[in-house]
Amino acid sequence: MKFCVSCGTENDDNATFCIKCGYNFDGKSETSTKEITANETSRTLELVLGIIGAIFGLLGGVFAIMLSSFGGTEIFALGISALLASIVGIVGSVYVKNNAKTGGIILIISAIWLLISISAYGILGFILLGIAGLIALIRK
Ligand SMILES: [Zn+2]
Repeated sequence: MKFCVSCGTENDDNATFCIKCGYNFDGKSETSTKEITANETSRTLELVLGIIGAIFGLLGGVFAIMLSSFGGTEIFALGISALLASIVGIVGSVYVKNNAKTGGIILIISAIWLLISISAYGILGFILLGIAGLIALIRK
C-alpha cells in the first residue's frame, strides 16, 4: 500500500493514479489535469452570462427591427447591428472556454457594440456581456 500525497487515500503499490483524486504518482501531469478541470468548471459562469446577455441583445435587436417599421431604415440598421453584436457575444462566450483572454475581449467588444447599436434596449445585454467579459479577463 502507498498513500496519495495529494489526498491521503490508500492506493495499490503499483497504481499509476490515485483512485480517489486522480493524482499521478509519477508527479508530472497532476497539475495540468487539475488546471484543465478548474478551467472547465470556472468558465461556465462566463459562458452562461455571455449567452444570456447575447439573448437579451438579440431580443433588443429584433425589437429595434420591429420598431423600424414606424421609425425608418436607420433603426432597422441599428437592429441588424445589434443582432450582429449579439452573435459576436455568443462567439465570445464559447471562445472563453478555450481562450479566456481573447474570449473576454470579444465579449467586451460585443457588449460595447450592442450598447452603441441600440443603447437603452441593449442595456441588459450590455451589462451581462460586459460582466462575462470582465470575469473572463480577471479570473485566472
Ligand atoms: Zn489522491
